[in-house]
Amino acid sequence: MIRYAGDFVHSLPGLAGTSREPNVQPCLTDPAVYEKVLKKVRSTLKSHPKATIISVSQNDSYADGLGCQCENCRAIDEREGTPMGSLLTFVNKIADAIKDEYPNVYVDTLAYRYTRKAPKTVKPADNVIIRLCSIECCFSHDLDSDCPQNEEFKRDIEDWAKISKNLFVWDYTTDFLYYIIPFPNLKVLYDNVRFFVDHNVTGLFEQGNYQSVSGEFGELRAYMLAKIMWNPDMSERQYERIMDDFLEGYYGAGWQYIKEYINKTSELSAGSHMGIYDSVKQNLSLEGKDILGVIGELEALWRSALEAADEEHYANVERSSLQIRYAKLLLLWDDDTSPAELEELYGLLKKYNITRFREGVSVPEDPYFTTPLAEWR
Ligand SMILES: [Zn+2]
Ligand SMILES: [Zn+2]
Repeated sequence: MIRYAGDFVHSLPGLAGTSREPNVQPCLTDPAVYEKVLKKVRSTLKSHPKATIISVSQNDSYADGLGCQCENCRAIDEREGTPMGSLLTFVNKIADAIKDEYPNVYVDTLAYRYTRKAPKTVKPADNVIIRLCSIECCFSHDLDSDCPQNEEFKRDIEDWAKISKNLFVWDYTTDFLYYIIPFPNLKVLYDNVRFFVDHNVTGLFEQGNYQSVSGEFGELRAYMLAKIMWNPDMSERQYERIMDDFLEGYYGAGWQYIKEYINKTSELSAGSHMGIYDSVKQNLSLEGKDILGVIGELEALWRSALEAADEEHYANVERSSLQIRYAKLLLLWDDDTSPAELEELYGLLKKYNITRFREGVSVPEDPYFTTPLAEWR
């Protein structure tokens, strides 16, 4: 059983006593930082005697984030061709210092943003876990496809697979700009989990909407991920059958309309790239299309599913249908949209306890969605 010591994945600020502001990273060649982190790692492990993993990971970082730019850190990073050079050197040293005292503990470090690329010569120690993060990837195309947006990640995972004994992945499975809008990755998930297994990945964290009831396919996605992670050898047909079984059980008599919706949105989505902070227009590849017509068709499928649903399944259908209602609002709202329509949608979000739009942003207490419509479309 895996047990974690400590409380937050971006652990270096807490261990080194430095700033938690994103993009601020401690100096990893400063002996005082090393001593401080080692001391804190030891005391954390002492207070978590059953822990098998401790995270010694960079602070959070935006796309433009960099590591420490001092002369010593840069010398290692330039030699290794990646800022992971100084980070992994540091992590290996910590792992080496604790290995005799804690032979069952792994030191986990993120290969994330600016540290995603593997170093040229430094290799992770046997008791180090590399947790490679797919945050920049495109998820309308699978990782093994020829999507140019996944090319670098593919190269990185191949490089890590060659040198890591313990390769984990932190993968992203929903839209983090809006948890509720369509994110048609259900088919791609199948390919991606198998892709990870094929690249020696032995630990997988699939991050979705972890803060609110889903108004999209959160439940279905979690179910499908559990199934494919349990048995990554299943055929695509088996995966589809499992999905159908869920849809029928969860949405009732009109489930085939929802399956059709999934197929249609997956097809649309394949027409462009889809990152985890993209808009609904991008996720459904609607540029240059008859948006009213496409949304109308998708809405009709949910309407049919609702009409077919009995009392037991109605709420599930209605809650998941909020994805298209909210998508429509973002795409087609104008001054003529009736206030009653906005109020109705808002009432449904409340009814189903959908409290978060995105990481760190609550659904505003405003039935007219003033801020989202002005700023977040
Ligand atoms: Zn430095
Ligand atoms: Zn793509």
